[in-house]
Amino acid sequence: MMDKNSEARLLDLHPKLAQKIRTLAETLLQEGIEIRVTQGFRSWAQQHALWLQGRAPVDDVNACRLNCGMQIIPEHQNRRVTKANSGQSWHCYGMATDVAPFRNGLPIWDETDPAWARIITVGEALGMRSGTSWGDEPHLELTGKWGPVPGPEVIQLYQDANVNGSGTQAVWDAAEIA
Ligand SMILES: [Zn+2]
Repeated sequence: MMDKNSEARLLDLHPKLAQKIRTLAETLLQEGIEIRVTQGFRSWAQQHALWLQGRAPVDDVNACRLNCGMQIIPEHQNRRVTKANSGQSWHCYGMATDVAPFRNGLPIWDETDPAWARIITVGEALGMRSGTSWGDEPHLELTGKWGPVPGPEVIQLYQDANVNGSGTQAVWDAAEIA
């Protein structure tokens, strides 16, 4: 079991990804490294709000954020944080998660801290893909037969299935995650 907030975020993820993150946390804890889940599932609207950052005036960004339950940001934070719009991030399918090392209850954002490298090494050894190659760290995803970016095939599958049920479940079922 991880801390309460991390466990709550794991609930929205593909169960196999959630299990791998728990294993990662247990393994690292034996080395004295504590990790927590900082981001899990993101709705398509939330991903769009993030994508708008740095691409629209801060008032528009904040209107969008308020509509999908996010806190507003000040003007100086209105810069680009992602290349991915709605459906173009595995976070939108519960197949990606961001973690961070914590020390004394505080996150360590210094990427030269050795804990970061350990998260990526152990995470990859457990079969997850790290976001290192596109500068998203520590981001870990589990996408089965699909690559690092959800392509048009995945987006179409989600949208078709979402009309009558759960697009996320349809993508999970088709992903062939071993
Ligand atoms: Zn991420």
